[in-house]
Formats: sequence, C-alpha cells, structure tokens
Amino acid sequence: MVLSVLTLIMGGILVVQYILDAHRSHIILNNELAQRKAYVSQIINLEGKSLAALSRDYSFWDEMVDFTKTKNQAFSKNNIDTGIDIYNADGAWVYDKAGTLLYTATSEDAKKTDMVAPSLRESDFSRIKEAKAIRYYLKQGRNLLEVRAATIVSGDDPEHRGVPQGYWVVARLLDKEYVNNLQSLTGQDVNIVPARDGGKDSVNGEKVSFAFPLSDIDGRSIYYLRAASQVTYVNSLATQYQRDLLVFALSCLLFVIVILLALRRLVLQPLTLIIESIYQQKPDSLLRLTRSPTEFGDLAKTMMTFFEQKARIAKEEYEKTELQKINKEKGAFLSLAAHELASPVSNVRTFAEFLGMTLSKEGKNDETITLQIKRIIAQIKRVSMLIDDLRTASQGRADLNFNLEKFNFDVVIQEEVAQAAFSTEHELIFEGGASQEVYSDPERIGQLLSNLIRNATKYSPDAHQVIVRTAARNGEVLLEVQDFGVGIAPEDQEHLFEKYYRAPSVRDDFKGLGLGLSIVKQITDHFGGRIWVTSELGKGSVFHVALPIVHENEKSGE
Ligand code: ADP
Repeated sequence: MVLSVLTLIMGGILVVQYILDAHRSHIILNNELAQRKAYVSQIINLEGKSLAALSRDYSFWDEMVDFTKTKNQAFSKNNIDTGIDIYNADGAWVYDKAGTLLYTATSEDAKKTDMVAPSLRESDFSRIKEAKAIRYYLKQGRNLLEVRAATIVSGDDPEHRGVPQGYWVVARLLDKEYVNNLQSLTGQDVNIVPARDGGKDSVNGEKVSFAFPLSDIDGRSIYYLRAASQVTYVNSLATQYQRDLLVFALSCLLFVIVILLALRRLVLQPLTLIIESIYQQKPDSLLRLTRSPTEFGDLAKTMMTFFEQKARIAKEEYEKTELQKINKEKGAFLSLAAHELASPVSNVRTFAEFLGMTLSKEGKNDETITLQIKRIIAQIKRVSMLIDDLRTASQGRADLNFNLEKFNFDVVIQEEVAQAAFSTEHELIFEGGASQEVYSDPERIGQLLSNLIRNATKYSPDAHQVIVRTAARNGEVLLEVQDFGVGIAPEDQEHLFEKYYRAPSVRDDFKGLGLGLSIVKQITDHFGGRIWVTSELGKGSVFHVALPIVHENEKSGE
C-alpha cells in the first residue's frame, strides 16, 4: 500500500518533470525562432537597401524631369544605365506622367532572361502617386522580381510632395544568386517557395523555420521567402535534461527504497512484534524491542511491566485461592479435632479429680502424689483451654477468654518451667527474677510461656538448653526465652506472629500449624504488651515479651 502510493507520487513527479523539460525546450526554440527571424529580416532589408536608394534617393531628379520632357538620350545612357550597375539593380524604367514607357535599362544578367518592363495599370500609377514610393514583387515568366517605384519630382522636393512629372521604376531579380547570397549572409537554409506551400513559422524537434511573405502590387502573397536552421544546442540540452531526469529518477527510487526500509525497520517490525505479543499474551518477543531508543522501545518497556504485573497478580490470585482452600481445610480439621478431644479430656479431668478426692478420703495424703495430681489437673485445664482456643481459631474468631487475678509473676513462670521440664529432654534454665506482683491471667501467661518453650525446644533439636529469664524494668515485666537452635531468617521474622505463618525453611522438617505464636501475640496485645524476636540463622533465637505491670487497684477502675 505504502509502496504503491510512494511509487505513484514519484511517477507523477517524473512525468511533471518530463513535461516541464519539454516545455522549456519549446520556449528556447521559440526564442531562437524570434531572434533568427529578426536577424534575417534585417539582412533582407540591408540587401534591398541599394534598390531602395536607387528608387528614392536618386541624385539627378531635375535631369530626370527634363528627360521626361526632352528624352535626352545622353542623360539616359550616362545616368540610368550606369545607375543600375552601381546600385546593383537589374532593370530600370522611366514612364511619363501619362504612364507611357519612355526608357528601359537592363543589366547584363537580366538580358539573359525574359525580363520586360512591368506593365502598370492606371490604378497602379495612382497608387504610386499616392504613396510616393512603393515596393512589391512581380512574377514574370520564370523570373521573380523585387520592384520599387517612385514618382519623378524636381530635386528641391525630396519628400515627393509635388505633382509627379513621371514614374521611376527599378527592379532586381530574386534569382539563385540572390538566394545563395542571402544564405551565406544569414547562415540559414533559404528558399523561395510558392504561396500554396504555406508561410507559417514552425518549431519541430531542434529545427526552426520561418517565412516572409512576398506580396504583389495588390498586396497578395504570391511567394514566401523561407529560412530554416537547426538549433543544435537544443539537442544537447535535451540529452542533458534526460540525464538529469535519469539521475532524478534514480534518486527518487533510492529515496523510496530508503523510506521503505526505514518504515519497515522503525515502524512495521516493532508494530508486528507488539501485535504478536498482545495476540499471544507473551512478553518474550518484546525483550529485544525494549533496547530500541525509539518510542516503541518505551512502549515495549511499558508493555513488559504490564505483562509482569499481570503475571504477578495472577500468581497472587492463585496463591490466595490456594491459601483460602488450605485454611478452610485446616479450620475443618481443627474444628473436628477440638470436638473429638473435648470429651476424653474432660473425662480425664473428672478421673484425676476423682482420684484426688478418693486418696484424701482414704487418708492417703502423700504430698508428692497430691502435687502430681494437681499438676495433672492443671495440665488438663490447659489442654481444655487449648481445645477452646482451637475451636475459636477454627471458627475464624480471634477472641480469647481471660480470667484476671493477682499473682507473683516469677512464681507462675517458674511453675510453668517446672511443668514443661517433664515433657522435654532439654535442660530448662530459669534466670533472673522480676519479683513483681501483677494483676493478670496466670493461665494465659502460662500458656504464652508454654508456647515459647515448646517452640524453643522444637526448633533446637541438636541443642541441650533453653533459658527462661524474667526481669522488671520501667514499669514492665520482661520475659525472655532463648534457644540455640535453627534460628529465623530476617525476612521471616516480621511474619512469625501472623496466623498460620510458618517459615519456609522449617516447613519440611518440623510439624506444626502456625498458630502458637499468633495466640502468644494475641495474649500480649490483650495486656497492652509487646513481643519481638532477635535471631540469627543457625545460632538460635530469643523471644522477648514485655508486659506492663498492672496492680489490682488500677485494673478495678476499668
Ligand atoms: P508452628 O511452630 O506450629 O509452626 P508457631 O506459630 O508456633 O507455629 O510458629 C510460627 C513459625 O515461627 C514456625 O513455623 C517457625 O518457622 C517459627 N519459629 C517459632 N519459634 C521458633 C524458634 N524458637 N526457632 C526457630 N523458628 C521458630
């Protein structure tokens, strides 16, 4: 399409150029014709000057007047015969005022022809009288004559105003010699042609030809003097034009090719790539285009970003759906587990309480056994609480139950450490001491610590110790649980407290639901506290909990 339009435009320009060149040649030829015609006309006039002089500027008018009266032969021989020789004429005739031929003089050349005196009619004499002098051409047998006629007046009347005393007629032969002479003077190809052969000027190829009419005494063109010549440089000009045209055409062709190649490279190829990538919804083909410094490069970059975003959104959507599915399954499982665990755990608690009561009834108040039974009941309470939490979590709810009371922080922590020690091979070490009475929920604080210890022992299978520290500082009680296990990568640390989050590095080797830390965080948040972790991969982790110290009287105001 583009190619055809460009070719059409170029073709149009070439045709216009060709027409203009032809027009230019035509103008040059017409100019040449006008100039040459003016020149030839001047030469003809110059050629005829002597005859004109003989007919008008004759020096012996008084004698001529006298001759018309006396017919003095001496005068005629001396003046008229020599006059035609000097003025290069071929004939001279004297008529009296009645139109009677008085004298005839003929040149040697003319004698060889059948030239006779021009026969003048009454009307012709009147015309000469009126015009004082006339010029015309006359065909006489095979001769063609240029004739000039004037009135004969006295010498003191140079304007021939006076009454004519006779008529003075001179002529010369327009013979071959005349034509040859004119030809060599003008450098043109000169011919005298009959009137029917046409007298039009013409320009043909590199030839110019023009004509002058030769009219008889009545003004009818009887012959034409035709001159023709070649304007040779027009031909070389035309060749030059053709060469220019060829160069121009080649330049146009080159221009079209360059434009097409540029269009193909800069517009069509990038467009095809872009359309292809949109069609296939793949950014691969755009990669090379992004390096282009053109607008298409920018467009390709934008499209790449668009495709990447689209892929990311699709991936996120997929992961979200997958996660929702897994969470739903987890929820269903948790709900089932909570339901199935509830009654056996409640039965174990009843049995333990029953065992305690039976022993005390029977007076077997062994301190160690009583303590262990209490611990069993406490653990079962914890398990019941856990089952409640599981049920809550499985329903997607986040609220936990809290029962507040006043207690010594260190005692509850140490008790929890002692209980945890039963279910682990790690050595649990208690350090420091907060020495603080707090008003809080000892069960939940115990649950919080139990979760942290469980994680500490779980994620340090090759270590032997877990350290639990308490302290009191700036109105807060601090609790730290340190292990020497696998540690946590920095990018995972910020997500640990989210529900169901599990660090990718532990997912395969350690079982778990990803719920424990979210419950710990919930408990901390409930008391207005903070929790954070410091850890190094492969070296271990420390979980820090800071809880504001709240006294009983402060809480009761709530
Ligand atoms: P779970 O232990 O069941 O996976 P948690 O909520 O208790 O769930 O812990 C969340 C995640 O935090 C764990 O999966 C683990 O990646 C990381 N984590 C918790 N405690 C530790 C620890 N002491 N050492 C290393 N990683 C830990």
